Amino acid sequence: MGLIFVVNCGSSSLKFTLINPEDGKTVANGLAERLGTPEAVVNIRQPVRLEFQVPNATHGDALDKILSHIDGDIVGVGHRIVHGGEYFTESVLVDDKVVELIGSASDLAPLHNPAHVMGIEAARKKFPDLPHVVVFDTAFHQSMPKRAYLYALPYAMYTNEKVRKYGFHGTSHRYVAGEAAKLMGKPLEDLHLITMHLGNGSSTCAIREGKSYDTSMGLTPLEGLIMGTRSGDVDANLHEYLTRRTGCTLSEVTAMVNRESGLLGISGLSNDMRTLAEAAASGHQRAALAIDMFCFRLAKHILGMSASLDRIDALIFTGGIGENSAIVREKTLSYLSLLRPQVDSELNNQHGRPANGRITTGDSPVLALVVPTNEELVIARETARFVPALAS
Ligand code: AMP
Repeated sequence: MGLIFVVNCGSSSLKFTLINPEDGKTVANGLAERLGTPEAVVNIRQPVRLEFQVPNATHGDALDKILSHIDGDIVGVGHRIVHGGEYFTESVLVDDKVVELIGSASDLAPLHNPAHVMGIEAARKKFPDLPHVVVFDTAFHQSMPKRAYLYALPYAMYTNEKVRKYGFHGTSHRYVAGEAAKLMGKPLEDLHLITMHLGNGSSTCAIREGKSYDTSMGLTPLEGLIMGTRSGDVDANLHEYLTRRTGCTLSEVTAMVNRESGLLGISGLSNDMRTLAEAAASGHQRAALAIDMFCFRLAKHILGMSASLDRIDALIFTGGIGENSAIVREKTLSYLSLLRPQVDSELNNQHGRPANGRITTGDSPVLALVVPTNEELVIARETARFVPALAS
């Protein structure tokens, strides 16, 4: 049984999953955190829980520790990469040139891409003879037309400075669209879909015949929906206004809109939807307001996505919130009365499980589905395509 080792490296973290790309079974997973500091720690969750203090460990040291405690026939390594710029429109096999291009997209994702390069280098040292494959969050959205991905700025900002909408969560949008097509019993190539990845980071995507035509995240993951701690869309003059009014620096305002805003900023309580739903149910007004704003913004973006489609064959909810919050789904659909969705409350409360993901009634003018995402599995399957023994 050939297994794929899926790695997701941040600047001080390394998430891993050992997965069978054929049946999707996770054999092992876990997380190393605070790497490069005296508090560095490796947590293995599956197959058994283990924790190791590894002071000052590098990504390479963390990999050594992890691999000495998990078993399995690893035949390929899949790397999740946040930003592929305009260089990558699909997953590719890693070579020196690919690593260099990921590095050169670092100005677009300064927190992520340098860490990914570090992770790839550590993993290539560890597994020099295995195929390494990079799977990009941005690649799926490279099919967007210019009218969707350009900002109305002087054109030189695009040609010289690479300013455009890239979009993220592509792996998840693509996967749930494919799964929805299976659930609907129709070829993906015949469907016009709107997918909503709603987690701590959230985005929507217009998918036409299997291709991304528009998405709500932009140059960076800040744009679009209200998220856990990100504001989503704001007036671009906000930064100048706030630096003038408050004396904050530009970086402080940037940190505020990324880390102190969104659900957390509005509620003053938490970035976590579950906590907010509980608080709202017991009368916390700003928690209720944060949920209401989240759903309203989402509904606005869904209608915006519809400009790329001829019809909406299905609205698809995924991510931690999309898969688990019946309240968010119901409220969002209530703001889409123009599309006349008929929610089946019973099915919605059971997250669509009894009806192949369906949460609307059989005769609803628009179909809404809950489809669980599985980004690790997509990365494993993309990687398996480059493993001669597994590629079919
Ligand atoms: P993710 O980033 O996809 O892991 O999603 C994280 C978000 O999903 C957090 O806001 C969680 O509060 C939310 N979430 C997870 N489970 C539930 C639940 N049962 N009800 C509401 N929100 C949930």
